Formats: sequence, C-alpha cells, structure tokens
Amino acid sequence: MPIDARAPYDDSNVFARILRGEIPCRKVYEDAHALAFHDINPQAPDHILVIPKGAYVSWDDFSERGSEAEMAGFVRAVGQVARDAGLVEPGYRLLANVGVNGHQEVPHLHVHIFGGRPLGPMLAR
Ligand code: 5GP
Repeated sequence: MPIDARAPYDDSNVFARILRGEIPCRKVYEDAHALAFHDINPQAPDHILVIPKGAYVSWDDFSERGSEAEMAGFVRAVGQVARDAGLVEPGYRLLANVGVNGHQEVPHLHVHIFGGRPLGPMLAR
C-alpha cells in the first residue's frame, strides 16, 4: 500500500531495519550520510536504492527538515553510486516516489537508480 508522505517517521520500516543491521542487504556504498544497496526486486539490470541515514519519510520530509550537510551528502552519494556502477556513460534514471500518487511503499526516503538497458519513456502509458 502506498504511504502518506507526511506521516510521522515509523522506525520499524524495512529500510530503518536495514540501517540498524537487523536485516541484510546487498550493500554497494556507505558513507556518513547515505547507504546504497541492490533492490530486492529489480526492475532493470541495475536497480540500486540510495537512502539517507537520517530518519526521513520522503523527499518532501527530507527537503524540508534535512540539514545542508545531509542533503549535500545524500546528493553526492547518489552520483557516486551511479559512477561506481559504471552507469554515467550509458546513462541511467533516478526516481523518487513520494506519497500516495507517487506510489511510495517504503516510508524511508529512497532514490532508485535504474540502468543497464535503454529505459524507454519516462512513465508507463
Ligand atoms: P517504492 O515503491 O517505495 O519507491 O520502492 C520500494 C522499493 O523497495 C521496491 O523497489 C522494493 O522492491 C524495495 N524493497 C522492499 N523491501 C526491500 C528489502 O527488504 N530489501 C531491499 N533490498 N529492497 C526492498
């Protein structure tokens, strides 16, 4: 079920549990501000999720409450992960689902990185 982008942060969500090391992930990158790991149900040959380490529900929440250092660190991490995965030259797509119409399912901000094949039009028609 899609979540409410303005809901209070629920620290039992699956990405909070991954951050606490309670459940495993296939980690590809970690620094002070961000963690990146492979999506459990990939929608493209490369499908990586990048999450901030702070407790933010959505892009809306993060862009409103995040510190300058957290936001800069997160944006730089997304770019670094894509570079490390060799996705810059062939190209890739970033996606952040927000709230109900965005069909966000996990209530901890995450940016999807998709690549590894031509990704077609931006949205399903
Ligand atoms: P959303 O629809 O919220 O933008 O995307 C949530 C993503 O999280 C989905 O692509 C889903 O496959 C992924 N996901 C859900 N649970 C897990 C998990 O336990 N581990 C990993 N690695 N990905 C997960």
